[in-house]
Amino acid sequence: MSRRRLVLSLGLIVLASTGLWALWVYIENWLPVSHVPYYLPCPEIFNMKLQYKGEKPLPPVTQAQYPQPRLTQHRPTELLTLTPWLAPIVSEGTFDPELLQHIYQPLNLSIGVTVFAVGKYTRFVQHFLESAEEFFMRGFQVHYYVFTHNPAAIPRVLLGPRRLLDIIPIHGYTHWEEISMRRMEAISRHIAKKAHQEVDYLFCLDVDMVFHNPWGPETLGDLVAAIHPGYFTVSRRQFPYERRQISTAFVAENEGDFYYGGAVFGGRVANVYEFTRGCHMAILADKANGIMAAWQEESHLNRRLITHKPSKVLSPEYLWDDRKPVPSSLKLIRFSTLLKDTNWLRS
Ligand code: UDP
Ligand code: MN
Repeated sequence: MSRRRLVLSLGLIVLASTGLWALWVYIENWLPVSHVPYYLPCPEIFNMKLQYKGEKPLPPVTQAQYPQPRLTQHRPTELLTLTPWLAPIVSEGTFDPELLQHIYQPLNLSIGVTVFAVGKYTRFVQHFLESAEEFFMRGFQVHYYVFTHNPAAIPRVLLGPRRLLDIIPIHGYTHWEEISMRRMEAISRHIAKKAHQEVDYLFCLDVDMVFHNPWGPETLGDLVAAIHPGYFTVSRRQFPYERRQISTAFVAENEGDFYYGGAVFGGRVANVYEFTRGCHMAILADKANGIMAAWQEESHLNRRLITHKPSKVLSPEYLWDDRKPVPSSLKLIRFSTLLKDTNWLRS
């Protein structure tokens, strides 16, 4: 009798512990991964209400004032010209530069540009600025913001009328990943501190690049991103999004529109503020969880652009890479990454 009871109790114990173990495994899988930022280095900016430069309404333009489209102008046949959410994809042949200049010039807009030159990257500033003076937003008021750890290393480039340059001293992080990821933080801080009063639009660009052809008002929009030159002909499954769920930059297999490059983004200064702040918060959350996204801030930019769709998309004409042969579908290259010795630069 007592042997039967013993076997029975043993059976019950085994049953109960298996049940408890199964419950624990279930709870563990069900618990969501938390991404709580453990430190907020700039809490003052999170609740700040910014007083932007006044809104500028379009002046009334009568039909007769518009330059008429040229009949010979051909339409591109190979590149998509509209996203599924009806944002234009800007490339040569999709717009009339003369017409756009005519519309935007009277608005007296101020266009900001941020570039970062930390460590050996200061050597790119001269070529970048000289080419920007030749091709970037000609005829517009332009305000360059050069962020550097070493203001003395920034060359004095002769700027045209209504073109200004500010040097913003920043901390020189030693790791290149930290330098490029900290850009989101530095840009949002600088917009909050100063730039929101100085510019209407802001473009955030890599410094290891050069302008080769005009970049004009066709690029202006609320939130603007550029298609990465390495991924405009490949399928979404091959996009190098962050695929680990623990990262805030995680993108599932069935998500994504285009793969955008981290070297070019911009928009209205208020939108760029929200955008960079959002990316910075996501980067902080990853840091708190001890993870760095696959392509650092580019992964976070791509994650955010899925939920905050760009109102305008720039074709790879606006973000090319000198290492790649130019395909026939691109009629010209406007802005391109220089060939560089990455290992040496980042050492
Ligand atoms: N950068 C910098 N110093 C560094 C690393 C990066 O100033 O040591 C800035 C610079 O503006 C650069 C950008 O961060 O253009 C992005 O880095 P990089 O161009 O090396 O990235 P890639 O375009 O090769 O992905
Ligand atoms: Mn670059």
